[in-house]
Amino acid sequence: MDSPNYTVYCPAMSSAHDILQSVFGFSSFRPPQDQIIESIINGDDALVLMPTGGGKSLCYQIPAIVRDGCGVVISPLIALMQDQVSALKLLGVRAAFLNSTLGPVEAREIERALIEGQLDLLYIAPERFNQAHTLKLFKDSRISLFAIDEAHCVSQWGHDFRADYLKLSLLHELFPEVPRIALTATADERTRVEIKTRLQLNEAEQFIVGFDRPNIRYRIALKHNAKQQFLKFLRDEHAVDAGIVYCLSRKKTEDIAYWLQAEGFNALPYHAGLSADIRADHQRKFLRDEGVIIVATIAFGMGIDKPDVRFVAHLDLPKTIESYYQETGRAGRDGAPANAWMIYGLQDVIKLRQMMEGSDGSEEHKRAEQHRLNAMLGLCEITSCRRQALLSYFGETLQQACGNCDCCLEPAQTWDGTEAARKALSVTYRTNQRFGVNHLIDVLRGAETNKIFQFDHHLLASHGIGKELDNNQWRSVFRQLVARGYLSVDLERFGALRLEESCRALLRGEESIQLRRDIKQKAAKRQTKTSLAPDVDIALWEALRECRRLFAEDQGVPPYVIFHDSSLQEMCVNLPQDMNAFSEVTGVGDRKLEKYGPAFVRVIADHLAA
Ligand code: ADP
Ligand code: ZN
Repeated sequence: MDSPNYTVYCPAMSSAHDILQSVFGFSSFRPPQDQIIESIINGDDALVLMPTGGGKSLCYQIPAIVRDGCGVVISPLIALMQDQVSALKLLGVRAAFLNSTLGPVEAREIERALIEGQLDLLYIAPERFNQAHTLKLFKDSRISLFAIDEAHCVSQWGHDFRADYLKLSLLHELFPEVPRIALTATADERTRVEIKTRLQLNEAEQFIVGFDRPNIRYRIALKHNAKQQFLKFLRDEHAVDAGIVYCLSRKKTEDIAYWLQAEGFNALPYHAGLSADIRADHQRKFLRDEGVIIVATIAFGMGIDKPDVRFVAHLDLPKTIESYYQETGRAGRDGAPANAWMIYGLQDVIKLRQMMEGSDGSEEHKRAEQHRLNAMLGLCEITSCRRQALLSYFGETLQQACGNCDCCLEPAQTWDGTEAARKALSVTYRTNQRFGVNHLIDVLRGAETNKIFQFDHHLLASHGIGKELDNNQWRSVFRQLVARGYLSVDLERFGALRLEESCRALLRGEESIQLRRDIKQKAAKRQTKTSLAPDVDIALWEALRECRRLFAEDQGVPPYVIFHDSSLQEMCVNLPQDMNAFSEVTGVGDRKLEKYGPAFVRVIADHLAA
């Protein structure tokens, strides 16, 4: 493979590269992993912003192995520590964790190992930093680095805020000589600044990695019959795949999960209202079994390190682009094609606007939230490339339309909605901004309902002036007017629509508006039921999966900890029949070669002989 010339300049980087190959079984760094690793090895601090799946872990794992002493990884995700540590142990790395799931005897054992210099990596929960005991423990040990994972948890503005993270500023004062690396996938400027100040990382070098996730296909469609639309999507494209479905309410996650079970899918609910045992069990199944669908509120997913999540579906609109991006980012970490699929409708917009109005934050906070929701709505309604819009929200420019989002694949049609918009705004005005969308549409369409007669709305000039559009078309007009901020939703009046200042020009005829033409979703172009390459022999693939499953079961780890799907695929294509050839497969380091090589090589040989 490409032999780096580090050898001459930096022996530490040469050993970093050796470790990459011999321990992790990867042939090369993904830039800027190498630069980050070099900084940390040199004892500098770093702030790393990298999208989910970008490869943050290696950035501290390798320096922790190279540097003298133990690397301490602070992570709020104690449910994942066990798997992270098991995965490292399988690679031959001396790793352990300290969190509330351990009994005192086990914890003491690990503390002893730390002090005696027998660990390369220690994962620890942030609340431990409240204990003087922990700080003393670190003082008594040799620490090679502190890695602060999910560093955006220090941000009081974000929804992942953890008060314990604020304590981490201590690290700089107590251990000035130990390098610190803070990592997050949350990109916005404000969070970045907060991380730097709160963690005293002003001197740290920043590494910002492009946020694009080219293997994820973004699709946002109009909701008309949510369940049927979703079922079709699953059956057509993900009949056997693992995925995550996000819903807004706890109740809905359960409804959807049980409904999917009835439709024959292996689906499980996950939300903060379930007992810790059930949540842990469902998360474990999601990680360990294949093809499990988790139906969750946003309580699920932070730091879920499952590489083969093939789709993320949103049945409700996320509140911000940040959440949307973070949640969809859980798909396709392994780099193989994955879908980010969402449906939304006017009702979602109204519900979210109401939730925000009703929340008890400050006015400033509410305004900020509204602003973020508007950006999310903008993304839903655009007719140009969604990826370009997403990236530009995070301050990046993508020169060309991506070719892998619904807007690129099936260009949306627009129509001149100026006249319709004016009718919609004026009926809102003439009914004194006191009615919701259904009634307004009735008036426009000239309906003769009790409510219309009750309020004398059959006498309005607006009554019956909108017969040219049907109910769905009018809903589309109203939705887009709300989404673009011409109309707002009045909470006090149960979803009554109100005019916003910005609608004046449109009402007066000084401005025109292009609206998106909503189409009933056509059968989507098939991606593939699995991400298998065409030349893969299914029988061999299944045999390798079975071999992997047996090892995983034996060792009590998820299958992907043994080998990723991509490694199995490589085996199917390259057909390694001896240990030497097997060692070339991505993800095969020395330890895995020795442990699993013979069994997998035999499976391949048997298959070829059959
Ligand atoms: P993050 O923490 O940024 O979400 P991870 O550290 O979990 O991402 O890495 C995502 C995936 O990419 C993992 O499966 C990891 O093994 C793989 N990976 C990371 N770095 C490399 C590399 N240099 N070569 C090949 N695969 C890599
Ligand atoms: Zn696109």
